[in-house]
Amino acid sequence: MRVAIAGSTGSIGKQTLEVIRSTREVDKYQVVGLSANSSVVDIVSQAQSFKPAVVAIADPAARKKVAERLKLTDPKIEVVDDATQLAALADVVVNGVVGFAGLSVTMSTLKSGKRLALANKESLIAAGPVVAPLRKTAGAEIIPVDSEHCAIHQCLRSSQNFPRDLSRLLLTASGGPFRGRSRDSLKDVSVADALKHPTWSMGPKITIDSSTLMNKGLEVIEAHELFGVSYDAISVVVHPQSIVHSMVEFRDGTTIAQLSMPDMKLPIAYALDYPNRSTSSFGVIDWAELSRLDFEKPDRDTFRCLDLAYQAGRIGGTAPAWLSAANEVAVETFLAGGLKWSEIPSIIEATMQHHDGQIPKTVDDILEADRMAREWAMKETK
Ligand code: MG
Repeated sequence: MRVAIAGSTGSIGKQTLEVIRSTREVDKYQVVGLSANSSVVDIVSQAQSFKPAVVAIADPAARKKVAERLKLTDPKIEVVDDATQLAALADVVVNGVVGFAGLSVTMSTLKSGKRLALANKESLIAAGPVVAPLRKTAGAEIIPVDSEHCAIHQCLRSSQNFPRDLSRLLLTASGGPFRGRSRDSLKDVSVADALKHPTWSMGPKITIDSSTLMNKGLEVIEAHELFGVSYDAISVVVHPQSIVHSMVEFRDGTTIAQLSMPDMKLPIAYALDYPNRSTSSFGVIDWAELSRLDFEKPDRDTFRCLDLAYQAGRIGGTAPAWLSAANEVAVETFLAGGLKWSEIPSIIEATMQHHDGQIPKTVDDILEADRMAREWAMKETK
C-alpha cells in the first residue's frame, strides 16, 4: 500500500511513521509522499529514512533548504510546494495537517478517488457542505483518525441497518486537565496548566481545545458530518480514563463501545488497514490492572465551548467554519500569552455574533468565511 502523509512532522504524522516502521510485514507500506509546513530538520530526516518520491513544503524558504539537503539523495526525491500533489501518488493519504490549512489535502484526496485517513477534523468541520459531494467520487472514502470517530466507525460495523437501527452516538470526553474545576478557579490558569492533558499526548492546539471542551464540540460537528447523524442524536459523556473511546446506542437498547488504552497509533493503523484488522497491536488493555471506568455529565457552564459548537453545528452553513476559525485565533492568542484561558469562549461567542448566515457552495465561500471570522476574532482579542 502506497501511503502519503500530509503534516508528517506533526504528532499524527510522526505516529503514522511509527506505525509503518513497526509493521512486521515486509514492504506492506511504501511511503510515497510527505509534507510539512516549515520543519526542515524533521522532514529531511524522515525523507532520508523513508525515501518518498515527493516531499511538499509550503514555506518557500524552508522548501529551498529542504531541496538543497535532499539534492544528492538516491533515488531522487522531488521537492514541491503543494501537498495536494500527494494524492495522485498514493492509495491512502493521511491528513495530519493542523487546522484549517488541511482543507486542500482533504479535497484533493477525495477528488482523486483515494482513501483519506482523516486526522484533520477542521477541514470537515469548516467545509462540510463543500466536502460532502466529493465523497461520492468513485473510490473516495474517509476513515476517521480521531479516536472517538474511529470508535464509532468500528461500533457501527455491528449493524447491518444503519441509520435505521441507530438510537444515538455517544462521544466520550476525558474532560481535560480542568475537569471538576469551577469557573472561578479557572480565571487565571497558565498555558502550561492547559497543556497538561491527563491521558493523551497531542499537539498544542488540540490539547488546548481539550482543556476548553472545544475539541469535543468540534468532534460533535465532525461526527455529524462523517456519519450524517442529527445533532439531537449525538451526546457527550465525560469519561476521565479515556479507555472507552466512544459508543453507539441502538434502538433495541444495546450499547456497543470500543475500548483500548489511549494510543493514536491504533486509529492510524485501523485507517490504513481497513477493512482488515492491523497485524500490529496498539493500546492493548491489561484487564488485571484496569480497576474502574467512570462516566459523568459534562459541566456545560464552566466549559461553554461545547454548547457554542452545538449551536454552530445546528445553524450549519458557514457557522462551523466561523466557529473553528474564531477558536483557532483565540487559541493561538492564548498560547502566545495575549489572552486568558477563560476568555477563549467569550472571543468565540463575540465573533459568532457577526456571522452572516451564508450557505457555502464553493471553497472560495469557505475561505471567505474563514477570513472574515478570523478578522472579527482578531478584533475581539484586541
Ligand atoms: Mg478525538
